[in-house]
Amino acid sequence: MPQPNARIKLLPQPVIEKIAAGEVIERPASVLKELVENSIDARSTRIDIRIEDAGFSLIAISDNGHGIVADDVLSAPVRYATSKISSADDLFSVTTMGFRGEALAAVSAVSRTTIESSATTDGLGYRLDIEGGVSGTLVPVARTQGTSITVRDLFFNVPARKKFMKSSRSEQMAIMRLVEQLVVPFPDVQFTLTLEGRVVLDAPRTHTVQERVSQIGGHEFTRDLIECTSERPGMGMRLLVSRPAQAAARPRFQNLYVNLRRVDNDSVSAAIRQGYSRFIAEFLRPSFFCFLDIDPTRVDVNVHPTKKTIRFDDDKSIFSFVYGAVQRGLTEHVGTSAAVHAVPQAPGAGHEGVFVPPVYEMRRERPVAGVRETGQVPTVVTAGIPAGGDADAAQAPMHLSNIPAASEKDLDPTSASTLQFPEQVDDEPWTLISCYQIHGSYILAPIKNGILLIDQHAAHERILYEQALSDMDRGSSESQQLLFPVVMELSPAERAIVDGARKQFRALGFDVQDFGGQSVSISAMPGFMKHSSGEQAIRQMLEYLMSDGNARMPDPRHRFAAAFACGSAIKAGQKLDQEEMNALLNSLFAAQNPYTCPHGRPTIIRMSLDELARRFLR
Ligand code: ADP
Ligand code: MG
Repeated sequence: MPQPNARIKLLPQPVIEKIAAGEVIERPASVLKELVENSIDARSTRIDIRIEDAGFSLIAISDNGHGIVADDVLSAPVRYATSKISSADDLFSVTTMGFRGEALAAVSAVSRTTIESSATTDGLGYRLDIEGGVSGTLVPVARTQGTSITVRDLFFNVPARKKFMKSSRSEQMAIMRLVEQLVVPFPDVQFTLTLEGRVVLDAPRTHTVQERVSQIGGHEFTRDLIECTSERPGMGMRLLVSRPAQAAARPRFQNLYVNLRRVDNDSVSAAIRQGYSRFIAEFLRPSFFCFLDIDPTRVDVNVHPTKKTIRFDDDKSIFSFVYGAVQRGLTEHVGTSAAVHAVPQAPGAGHEGVFVPPVYEMRRERPVAGVRETGQVPTVVTAGIPAGGDADAAQAPMHLSNIPAASEKDLDPTSASTLQFPEQVDDEPWTLISCYQIHGSYILAPIKNGILLIDQHAAHERILYEQALSDMDRGSSESQQLLFPVVMELSPAERAIVDGARKQFRALGFDVQDFGGQSVSISAMPGFMKHSSGEQAIRQMLEYLMSDGNARMPDPRHRFAAAFACGSAIKAGQKLDQEEMNALLNSLFAAQNPYTCPHGRPTIIRMSLDELARRFLR
C-alpha cells in the first residue's frame, strides 16, 4: 500500500516501458496487428504470418516490403521512433497504418524479439535481437529485401499479464478473426497464415476487394452482396452488404474500414443499421464490408493506443452521408417493394414442406422433474390426431406449479416484465384439449383449468438442447444420408470451429468432411431436419459459437448444445400444423427442464381460469 508520506519519484525506465507496452499489447492478436500494419506500410506485396502456441511461443511475420536501412534497425524498437510522421501537424494527415512509433518498442519490451531486415537488393541485411526491451548488437546477415520480425515468448517477463489471457483456443480465434479483417482492403497483397503448422489462410493477390472478400467469406456469400457507392467532396463510400434475405441475427462480418484502417465507429454502424432497417425485421442484421475514404484532416486516428476507434470532426455529416447511401443503394437493388414486406420469410418456412419436430423424447425412460406421486398425468387429446404419433406421450407429466403464471405485471406492456411463479400449488391434473398457433410464433393451449402459452422457438430450443447433450454423451444419434452432399464455404475462423468440433458434429448426426480449401461437405445430418435446413443450421451454429455474447456458458459441451438448439430450432414465424404442435408439446413436457430455454428464458406461461375470471371481473 502506498504510504501517506511517500515521496513522488520517477519510475525506472523498464517499468515505464512495461506500462506503455501494456496499452498497446493486450494479447497475441495485438502483436500480430501491429506487425502486419508495419508490413503494409512498407508497401509489401506478400506477407506471411506464422503462429505457434496461439502466439505465446511464436509470432513471426515476414514481408517483401521496402525494408529498414541498416542505420535505422537499432532505432526501430525505440519508443516514439517512427519514419511515418515528423510533426504534430502530421497527426492530422496520417495516411499510414502506424504513426505512433510505439509498436516495436512495446512488443520487444514484453518478449524476445528479432528484427531482420534489408532495404537493398544486394542480398545484404541486418539482424537485431531484443530481449525484454534490451537490444543486442547489429549483426549482418544474408537476406532479400524486406523485413522479418519474430516474436518469441510473449509476456515472459510479465507473468501477471499472461495469467489474464483466455484459453489458447480463444486467442487462436482472435488471431484468425483479426487476419480475416485486416486483409480485406489489400487485395493486391498476398497473405498467408500458418497456425500451429497448418496453413489456414492463403489469399493470393487479386484485383478487386470483392475477390478478396470471396477468399475469406466464400464465392456464394460474396456473389450475393449488394454494392452501394456514394461520393461527396472529401468523402467516398463503398459498401458491400448482404441482401435482406441473407440478414441474420448474428451476421458473419460487420467490418468497417476508414481510410483502409479497420475500426469501430458508432455513428457509421448506426447509419448502416438504420439505413437498412426498413428492409429487414428488427432482430436481424446484415453482413457488411464498408470502406470509407475520408479526407485525413477530418479524422482523428490518435484516440486509442491500439487505434481501434477513431473520431470524425463532424459525426452528423458522416452519419447522414452513410445513411443516405445505404437507403438509396438498397432501394435501387432491392426495390421499394421489399421494404413493404419488411419481415423476411422465416428460414426454412414455406415451400420445402414442413418441419417436423423430433419426438425422440418419448423413447426415453427417465424420471421427469416434478413428477407427482399421485400418478396423475396430463393427457393430450386432439381432434382425432394421435398425440405426436406416440402413445407413450402420456408418460410425461409436468408440474403446473412450475410454470410461470402470467401476472398482472406481465400483461402491462409498460412494466418491465419479470415472470412470477404462482404462489399456490396447483394440484389439479390437466388435459390439453387442442392447440392453436398464434402469430406464427406462439402456441395457445387450453388446459382443463386455464390456458398455456408456449413460445415455439424457445420450447424447441429446450428440447433440442437436451437431445444434443444426451446425443453427445452417447456419441451418436439418428442421422440421415444426403443424396447430394451440400458444400459449405467457410472462413478460416469458421473452419477452425468446425475442425475443433468434428466429434460433436458427428454425435449430433452431421457428417462433415473436408472439401478442399476452406470448404467442407455435409453428407449426413440429423434425422429430424429437412434437407434444406442442414447448411443453415450449421451456419447459425457457427455464428452462435463465434459471437462473444454466449461466453456466459463456460462449459463447451453446453455451449455447443445450445448452439445446435439455437441453430436448428423452429423459428418464430414458422407455421406449424396440429400434429407438429402436439409433437412439440409432448417433447417439451417430457424434457428434464421444460420451463426455460437453454438461456434461461421461459418457454411456457400459464394463466388459470380463476385468473381469467378475475381479469374479466366476473
Ligand atoms: P510506427 O509504425 O508507428 O512508425 P513501429 O514501432 O511500429 O512504429 O515501427 C517503427 C519503425 O520501424 C517504423 O516507422 C518503420 O520505419 C520501421 N518498420 C517497422 N516494421 C517495418 C517493416 N515491416 N518494414 C519496414 N519498416 C518497418
Ligand atoms: Mg507500426
